[in-house]
Amino acid sequence: MIQFGKFLIIGLCALASVSCAIPRPPQPETDQEPPTDIDKTQPPAPTVSVPPPSEPSQPTPPERPTVVLTPPPVAQLPASLVSLRDKTIVPGGIAWVSLPSQSDTPPQIMYDERQVMVLRDEEQWVALIGIPLSAKLGKHTVIDQQIGKRYSFQVKNKKYKTQRLNIKNKRKVNPNREDLQRIKRERKLMKAALASPWRTTSTSPLPLMQPIQGRFSSPFGLRRYFNGQRRNPHSGLDIAARQGTPIAAAAAGKVVNIGDYFYTGNTIIIDHGQSVVTLYAHLNTIAVETEQTVERGEIIGTVGKTGRVTGPHLHWGVSMNNTMIDPMLVMK
Ligand SMILES: [Zn+2]
Repeated sequence: MIQFGKFLIIGLCALASVSCAIPRPPQPETDQEPPTDIDKTQPPAPTVSVPPPSEPSQPTPPERPTVVLTPPPVAQLPASLVSLRDKTIVPGGIAWVSLPSQSDTPPQIMYDERQVMVLRDEEQWVALIGIPLSAKLGKHTVIDQQIGKRYSFQVKNKKYKTQRLNIKNKRKVNPNREDLQRIKRERKLMKAALASPWRTTSTSPLPLMQPIQGRFSSPFGLRRYFNGQRRNPHSGLDIAARQGTPIAAAAAGKVVNIGDYFYTGNTIIIDHGQSVVTLYAHLNTIAVETEQTVERGEIIGTVGKTGRVTGPHLHWGVSMNNTMIDPMLVMK
């Protein structure tokens, strides 16, 4: 009945062509103004059918319009993601939390003050939560914003391998003062793009399409040493391919950032909705523009060796709830 009431309100709002205040979850803090046209893939408004007006000669008062209620479509859990259950609750992995909510609309689940992906799985909802590489082992909790209910999951250990790389361009390992200022500016831009504001979609962006075929040259999570010096762990998956190989968008979405950055070279960042954002680095060419919408599989650029690299490859980053996770876990 509550749901019926909600759809009725939405239906009536659509009917009266007025804007209705529907509560929104808090947005992650960014240094950028949130885009204004973020609702392109929101579910369509419920169907409202109005019968033709009665004949003027009829003495009876006009009938009230009949409102036909159609629940908005919700993103379903794809069968291929079921394998994630209980196997990937590690730093850099994904936690899967079943939510016994009877609601027809997805619950708003928060983890570390960020809204997480929620998909429909038959009679229940499932939250899929990106876990940071830096996460502590043990109990973590998420909260259902609307009812204040908490759910917990246990993060288990995963040992990531160490990788040692030699970079010929020493400045890419030990940047000078000018470089450091540039790096700081670029980090801010990329951080804001990865924290793209929440956008509900009517289909699941997962599983993602592998953007290029090729050898997986460096997995996610490697503990890295460049020229013998420790640096941040590897936040994406490297796929080796010849320079000029076309790169496909991993899912439908909107380009939120492009740039030529110190470390990642020519870079594209795409927001797919439901907190899923992908990053494509070291490109040779970029074939899209900021704010452009792209389809799953659309060519967005070509493989290159720009930025800090040892050879041509695609560095592919996948973020969920503003957390870089292992792309291998969510690709088909
Ligand atoms: Zn990489």
